[in-house]
Amino acid sequence: MRIRAAVLHEPGRPLAIEDVELAPPREDEVLVRVAAAGVCHSDVRLADGELGDGRWPLVMGHEGAGVVESVGARVRHVAPGDHVGFCIVPACRTCSECRAGRYHLCIPAGENGPRGTLMDGTSRLSLPDGTPLQHALMTACFAERVVVAAAGAVKLPPELPLWQASLLGCGVVTAFGAVHNAARVDPGDSAVVVGCGGVGLQVIAALRIARADPIVAVDLDAAKLELAAARGATHTVESGSATTAARVLGLTGRGADHAFEVVGRPETMRLAWDCLRPGGTAVVVGLAPQGVEVTLPAIEFLSDKGIRGSYYGSGDAAADLPRLAELALAGELDLAGVVTSVEPLEAVNDALDRLRRREGSRTVLVVDRALAGR
Ligand SMILES: [Zn+2]
Ligand SMILES: [Zn+2]
Repeated sequence: MRIRAAVLHEPGRPLAIEDVELAPPREDEVLVRVAAAGVCHSDVRLADGELGDGRWPLVMGHEGAGVVESVGARVRHVAPGDHVGFCIVPACRTCSECRAGRYHLCIPAGENGPRGTLMDGTSRLSLPDGTPLQHALMTACFAERVVVAAAGAVKLPPELPLWQASLLGCGVVTAFGAVHNAARVDPGDSAVVVGCGGVGLQVIAALRIARADPIVAVDLDAAKLELAAARGATHTVESGSATTAARVLGLTGRGADHAFEVVGRPETMRLAWDCLRPGGTAVVVGLAPQGVEVTLPAIEFLSDKGIRGSYYGSGDAAADLPRLAELALAGELDLAGVVTSVEPLEAVNDALDRLRRREGSRTVLVVDRALAGR
């Protein structure tokens, strides 16, 4: 079938909204009509060619939600009409990582995601002239419809408006998992969050729900710090000077139990490290361009400090997405609050430019107004 989609032909050029061909779902796949999609900073990294060569031409978009239109013969967990959020790591549940419970590190998903294919190593997308197109992170949801692996479509309660549900599958699950699965924050733990964009604000929301205290938000931008305070930060620190770490240490006693880096730059990773107490751990959530290295004062390993990464929530996204949707329906998690722009798909290049300028926190692209509920 022919659909409208946002295509990256080569990095550095604006995305083109154009007609592409979408092949029907195979037996382990699902066809979904897209309602809305979130624009994430990793879309900018991909569009600017910072995640490595060979990632184009592709249909962009990896955070979104929609309504199932048809399912392959072996799909049982969803049916036409179901509301679903997209999961960019459709875990196979049989590889060695999956069997060990590390679904976010699923081996075939990890191989096929950067390759731009679905789980069987092939693409359902092509240009009208037959040129194959890649699927961004097995999702490609800056488009009217997607075909995803069965596990890439996670059933959600239909009461949650899809324009809000669209945020769950990348930014929200990444942030909540970093707090609950990677850092394992306990009530009363102190935490600092470096970077208050779309994901950083969700880290703050997750810390509030985990009853961390204090929660110190750090950002260069005073407007983002205001959003951070509204989402539960107990203190805010404007960064960009040599005294940033000292001010955070002043607010947390000897330093924070947990530091979250949600920017993806070596200087903010170092800042997160510098804000820790002896024995504290930094969790790097931010995505750095390929080739970037970070240096740390090695003597400080003597104080039992640690630093670790966290990918896609470090857990089981298929189980976490419905839980996060329930939290949103219960009023515990404000999804609308991080959205600073709601625009049609055609405005995708403006949304990417705002992220390049580090302006605003999250844009939701409405692909189908009636389905999106907005
Ligand atoms: Zn993302
Ligand atoms: Zn697996």
